[in-house]
Amino acid sequence: MSGIYIHIPFCKQACHYCDFHFSTSMKKKEEMVLAIAKEIEMRKSEFKSETVETIYFGGGTPSVLTSEEINFLIAAVYNSYSVSENPEITLEANPDDLSSERIIELSKSKINRLSIGIQSFFEDDLQLMNRAHNSAEAKKCLEVATKYFDNISLDLIYGIPGMSNEKWKQNIETALSFGIPHISSYALTVEPKTALNKLIQTGKIVAPKDEVAQEHFAILVEALEANGFIHYELSNFGKENYFSKNNSAYWLGKKYIGIGPSAHSYDGVSRSWNISNNSLYLKSIQENKLPNEIEILSITDRYNEYIMTGLRTIWGVSLDRIEREFGSKYLEYLNKQTQKFLNDDLVFIENNILKPTPKGKFLTDGIASDLFYLNLE
Ligand code: SF4
Repeated sequence: MSGIYIHIPFCKQACHYCDFHFSTSMKKKEEMVLAIAKEIEMRKSEFKSETVETIYFGGGTPSVLTSEEINFLIAAVYNSYSVSENPEITLEANPDDLSSERIIELSKSKINRLSIGIQSFFEDDLQLMNRAHNSAEAKKCLEVATKYFDNISLDLIYGIPGMSNEKWKQNIETALSFGIPHISSYALTVEPKTALNKLIQTGKIVAPKDEVAQEHFAILVEALEANGFIHYELSNFGKENYFSKNNSAYWLGKKYIGIGPSAHSYDGVSRSWNISNNSLYLKSIQENKLPNEIEILSITDRYNEYIMTGLRTIWGVSLDRIEREFGSKYLEYLNKQTQKFLNDDLVFIENNILKPTPKGKFLTDGIASDLFYLNLE
């Protein structure tokens, strides 16, 4: 199983919390679509013997592309790669781009999964985060999208300053009322180079609190599990058969090619990433050069990545696999480091698989970093 990720580096406006790569100027959008199609073609030799099972348009905001542009890029993938019969093809979309006409148009394309950036159904939260849509648009687009798409995911953010537990519960209930089968939910985090950080530093917004985020996370897990969702990754919940195939492939260490500015790729041995600059990306592709840097992963890098992704997912960390792939010194180290978390009931081992307990789930990233091996080689 392998996937193609396509990064569309444009957004209508900058959300205050975001540190992804995007430009709010659409001037180079057409040129970018052509360059992305060209990169798709340039990299076909990387997947000579692979079948593409997922195509994912992420960003940025891929829904700023016209349907013709999206179809053109999907056709570029089909022209250069062998694609499975029923690939999962996801479009990340924002509610302000999803008018009824647009949803109907998309439903006639090969896109078969929408990942909608709702974030909150409350006007004040959306304004605080500087989202481009409003609450009415969020609800309206879900109402229509659920009529035309069966496979829909929505994003919600918790731990927003001023968000009470009650308000968070209402957000979850509203999301559930649309009957969608997948929810991704993240705590609001303050990244250094963002407007949100500046607003907090200058006292205009109070900083999000960890304790509040932890309570919201507990509410989320309880509510979604009670409604038949499986908590298959720390931030992702899906009904049976609706886990994101694209993201599951990342977490299970499958190969993927990332196309477009700032996109990352993984071929099982090395990682590469494209330059995070639209003009330099365009120039390089126009000169027939791939604008990427490559890093060969060491055994320690691969061990650390497996610990992080394994602990975050329902599949856990297999101690047999640690020994088989990385050797007994890694297993001994892991066993030693795990002891204190076992004693504190933050992790458990079942059938030789290490997983966080419900109490440990919110602390997964911190636990994983304590299990990382720093200098073995
Ligand atoms: S729409 Fe998404 S990528 Fe664009 S600024 Fe907002 S959070 Fe970032």
